[in-house]
Amino acid sequence: MEVIRTVKVKLDVPEQRRDALHQTADQFRYCANQTSEWAWRDSSNEYCVTSKAKAEDALYDRLREETDLTANLVQKGIRRAVEAVKSGVKAWERGDRTSQPHFDSWSVVYDKRSATFYRDHVSLSTVDGRVECEYVLPDNTDGTPIGDYLLNEDFEFRMSTLQYDRFEDVFYLHARMKRTIADNEEKRSSSDTHSENLTVLGVDLNVDGYFAVTSTGAFIESADYLNHRRREFEKTRGSLQDTGTRSAHLTVQQMSDREHRWIQDVLHSVANDILREARRVDATHVAFENLTGIRDRMADARRFHAWAFRQLYEYVEYKGEAEGVAVEQVSPAYTSQRCSKCGCTLEENRPSKHKFCCQKCGYELNADYNASKNIARKLAKRLHSEQTSPSGGATYQLALTSGMLNLNGDFHASDRVSAEGESTDKPLPQRARSSDQAK
Ligand SMILES: [Zn+2]
Repeated sequence: MEVIRTVKVKLDVPEQRRDALHQTADQFRYCANQTSEWAWRDSSNEYCVTSKAKAEDALYDRLREETDLTANLVQKGIRRAVEAVKSGVKAWERGDRTSQPHFDSWSVVYDKRSATFYRDHVSLSTVDGRVECEYVLPDNTDGTPIGDYLLNEDFEFRMSTLQYDRFEDVFYLHARMKRTIADNEEKRSSSDTHSENLTVLGVDLNVDGYFAVTSTGAFIESADYLNHRRREFEKTRGSLQDTGTRSAHLTVQQMSDREHRWIQDVLHSVANDILREARRVDATHVAFENLTGIRDRMADARRFHAWAFRQLYEYVEYKGEAEGVAVEQVSPAYTSQRCSKCGCTLEENRPSKHKFCCQKCGYELNADYNASKNIARKLAKRLHSEQTSPSGGATYQLALTSGMLNLNGDFHASDRVSAEGESTDKPLPQRARSSDQAK
C-alpha cells in the first residue's frame, strides 16, 4: 500500500535568485497556456486534444525554442494543460458548459529530474540555472507533518509543486511524500496522526450579500455590487434593443462582449480567491452545492446567477486541478437550515436574510458562513463514507476558521464543533472587494 502526504514548507530563497523563480513560473504558465490554446478546439469538444504525446509532438520544440525552461519543465507545462483540457472535455460530456482552460496561478511542477530534494533544502532548475533553497523549519518538528513526513527517511519525495504567495511574498514547496507500506504494517499506519491530510473547504454561493463565502470565513466579492453592475449593463442593452417583454427573457448569449468579459474577469478573480483560501489551509478538496437543476429552480432574473455559478465552478475546477485540489458538489438539502454547531435542523432555524440563529443552542453567525460549513461537512462525510479501505487510515478534515476538524471513525462531528468553542470560530476580517479595485 502506498501512503502519500503533502507537506507545505516555506523556502528561504536568496534575494538575488527570487527573480529566476518568478521568470520560471511565468514561462511555465506560458507553456501551459500555449498548450491549452492549441489543444482546445472551440467548435467541438470532440476535436480537443487530450493526448500528452500528441501535444508534446506538436509543441515541445517550439516551446523549448521560445522559453529558457529545461526540457523537463516544458514537458510538465504541456502535461498540466493537457490534463486540464481532459477534465474540461469530461465536464462537457457531463453536459456542463466549459471553456478553454486558462492558467494564471503561480505554480510550477517539479519532479526528480527538474529538482533535487534533500531533507533540509531543495535544488530547483530554473530559467537561470539551479536555485538552492533552504527549508524554513520550525524549532520543534515533532508531531508536525514536517517532522513526520518531510524529515522522515521512510518517505521519499515525489512530484511536488513550487508556489508563491504574493500577499506574504513567500515561496513554498508543496512536497509530496510517498511511503510504501507492506501489508503486515498497515495496522500500524492507521494510527498515523496526520493520515491522509484530506481537508475540505466549503463554499456557499449567493445571489445577494456576498457572492462566495468559505467555511474558513472568507467573504468574497459583493453579489450586490455584481447585481448593480449587471443592471447598468441591462440599461444599456435596453436602450439598444426593443424593451418590454423581451428583457425578461434575456439570456447569457445576449450579453454584450464587454459585459461578458467583465463578468468572466470577476469570476476568474473569485475563483482565484477561493483557491488562495484553499492553499492557505492546505485544502485537498473544495465543496460546492450541487448546481444541477439550479436553472430550473430559479426565476428568469436569476438565470444569470445560475450561469455565473456554473462558470465559477468550472474555473475553480480547472485551476484547482492544476494545483492538485479536487472540486466536488454536494446536495443542497438543509445546508442553510442546519446549525453548523449543534447539528440540529429545526424548522425555525430558517435563517433571516443574512443571519443564522440556532433555536436549539443559540449559535448565531452569518447565514452564508453557516451554510458553507455545512457544505464542507457534507463532502467530508461523503468522502469518509466512500473510503474504500478503512485500514488505510485516511481521515478527513473540514477547513474552519478555528482550525481543522477531524472526522474520524464514527461521525460525531457536531460534538467536535461545540467542543471547539464559539469564541475562536468567528469569521476572518471581511474581505469585500469590488472587481474594479482588483484590476
Ligand atoms: Zn445549534
